[in-house]
Amino acid sequence: MSFVTWREGLTRVVQALAAGLDIHTDSPVERIERTDDGRYRLRVGASAAAGDADERTFDAVVVALPGDRAAALLDGLAPRAPGLLGQTPRANVATLVLAYPRHVVEALPAFAGTGILVPSSVDSLLKAATFLSTKWPHLDHPDLYFCRASAGRAGDERLAGLDDDALVARVRADLARFIGLQAAPRHVHVQRWPAALPQLTVGHLDRLSAARDDLPAGLTLAGSSYDGVGIAACLGSARRAATDVLTHLGPTHAQGGTRA
Ligand SMILES: Cc1cc2nc3c(=O)[nH]c(=O)nc-3n(C[C@H](O)[C@H](O)[C@H](O)COP(=O)(O)OP(=O)(O)OC[C@H]3O[C@@H](n4cnc5c(N)ncnc54)[C@H](O)[C@@H]3O)c2cc1C
Repeated sequence: MSFVTWREGLTRVVQALAAGLDIHTDSPVERIERTDDGRYRLRVGASAAAGDADERTFDAVVVALPGDRAAALLDGLAPRAPGLLGQTPRANVATLVLAYPRHVVEALPAFAGTGILVPSSVDSLLKAATFLSTKWPHLDHPDLYFCRASAGRAGDERLAGLDDDALVARVRADLARFIGLQAAPRHVHVQRWPAALPQLTVGHLDRLSAARDDLPAGLTLAGSSYDGVGIAACLGSARRAATDVLTHLGPTHAQGGTRA
């Protein structure tokens, strides 16, 4: 089996996508209004980086936010879309990177593989573990073996009630149970991803289609809450949104005119 990734990490993709663009982070959009001439006025909240709150007008808007956030902003712009988009729940997850003494971990048979998945039928906070040092040769280290554990899944609210120490203890207990890994890690990094994974439940496609039909021209949706969780699905969703915007703006803009 072979896997491919970026040696410097997935952040390479983000940097490449962002290159040359005017991007404002830490600047939440608080309101979207339609102007009399069919454009969109966005109110962007005050932030440490950008200073005071700001209002700017655009020819078109791609709303690339989680469904419930989009629903809140679209209130007043489309009668049905907010109710339809606000129905997608999101799961809390956390990832833990654990660094073990290499010689201890490599003696365990499980680490010949690249990881484990734990089915939802098993009562476990651990959802998956990736044996990073086996999976990715470029992470090779003379003394340490890296393992990434994923915890939390849809409908499991236990993560929010655990501080980092308790979370690490629970995950270590699950690793001991499933693969016999008893050793104490030398280093642990905990990364929480609250409300990160949208759950596209039965009826999602019908609700999404109805929401898209309800949106005013020049306003479109993109992202994991709409066209599927995962980077490949998000890229497809972004292409669709770009096509919508270019169609709305017409041929002059498509050839490099005003940018939305
Ligand atoms: C732990 C984890 C591991 C994953 N692993 C993989 C993997 O191996 N392979 C894979 O294909 N996918 C993976 N995914 C899924 C993939 O990362 C996501 O589906 C994808 O990044 C979602 O992108 P998005 O742009 O739709 O949403 P997000 O990345 O959530 O972006 C939404 C953005 O909207 C911003 N926002 C919210 N409200 C406002 C507002 N009012 N104004 C302005 N901005 C706002 C948020 O700050 C956020 O930056 C993983 C996800 C997680 C959480």
